[in-house]
Amino acid sequence: MKRKTGQDRSITKHWRPATQAVRGGTARSEYGETSEALFLTSGYAYDCAGDAAARFAGEQQGMTYSRLQNPTTEMLEQRIALMEGAEACRAQASGMAAMTAAMLCQLSQGDHVVAGRAAFGSCRWLTDSLMPRFGISTTIIDARDTQAWQDAIQPNTKVFFFETPANPTMDIVDIKAVCDIAKKAGITTVVDNAFATPALQRPMEFGADVVAYSATKMMDGQGRVLAGAVCGTEDFINNILLPFTRNTGPTLSAFNAWVVLKGLETLDLRINRQSENALKVGAFLESRVPRVLHPGLASHPQHELAMQQMSACGPIFSLYLDGGRTQAHGLLDALKLVDISNNIGDSRSLMTHPASTTHAGLSEETRLAMGVDEGMLRLNVGLEDPQDVIEDFDQALKAVGL
Ligand SMILES: *Cc1c(COP(=O)(O)O)cnc(C)c1O
Repeated sequence: MKRKTGQDRSITKHWRPATQAVRGGTARSEYGETSEALFLTSGYAYDCAGDAAARFAGEQQGMTYSRLQNPTTEMLEQRIALMEGAEACRAQASGMAAMTAAMLCQLSQGDHVVAGRAAFGSCRWLTDSLMPRFGISTTIIDARDTQAWQDAIQPNTKVFFFETPANPTMDIVDIKAVCDIAKKAGITTVVDNAFATPALQRPMEFGADVVAYSATKMMDGQGRVLAGAVCGTEDFINNILLPFTRNTGPTLSAFNAWVVLKGLETLDLRINRQSENALKVGAFLESRVPRVLHPGLASHPQHELAMQQMSACGPIFSLYLDGGRTQAHGLLDALKLVDISNNIGDSRSLMTHPASTTHAGLSEETRLAMGVDEGMLRLNVGLEDPQDVIEDFDQALKAVGL
């Protein structure tokens, strides 16, 4: 008999990621609804005072308060954990809430963190500005250089933190090699997998301990809500992360969890089509601009490594113009279909100038060291017909003399 509610984990855990993205974690109510229910509730009522006491004591299964548990959010957490191949997952209010919690929950004054140089601007703020204020020292390295990870280790190194592909330069980190170094030294690796998602890259298969997400990007995929998630072992999620998040409160709203559940249903389709479209647009741009950095193109210096770790390269890549900010802004202003927007992972094609937007908060020196110069643009290729996107670039490039 088919189960109307709940799922038999012994069956569902063997499903492949694309199946998990549609069905993983679904827990039906007594109505047997096919689409996941949205439980907008902050609290839960108990049959008797003894039940309330038992739940608070952890002696009885059940929910107590939506900062800690919510049925809709739990479905999302289980779905992401199943897609990731992780023992457990906790949803967070945004990608930055996820990154902050994944790091700070396990760090104390006197600890040391090694992190990749090319990173989302706010991730660099975490390592460069926030952590040092609390006595956590950080070393920033070129994450492409595997030896640099080894060389940066100190006796108090607790965490390696990196993203791959990295925002916005598309640096690729050799996940297995770096995780091997960390394991030998007893260091926890935290991987920001926002660009790829488990549909394209599963860092835990290469030895990563913790995988964190901005679900705002490809997982929602339609530019609607902010969301984040942290995946790890049951011990890490329940005993290290949870005490931090249940008391500091970066909880995802049930409504946003529900939107991301709906987004995940189409993730596999969207990310693979957008990856194909991005390759077509990237190949066109390569014939017209001085430099394109796209891990799926043979011209990317780490193309082979990218293809060993990823099943496709995703919708995001960067390009460089010689004419600095004037030409880069000119190209943005000449686009008629592609929007000027700093979001990524959306089903719409979007382009931004990182030096004056996402990475404007960093010093010029830091920007240049990570490869963000005034002529650089970052593009997210959407689900439109790629020929329309190419024609839009064709006319916009002509407008700036390219
Ligand atoms: C967007 C992004 C974040 C932050 O996520 P939010 O949901 O915007 O808080 C972190 N890391 C990477 C790589 C991102 O692209």
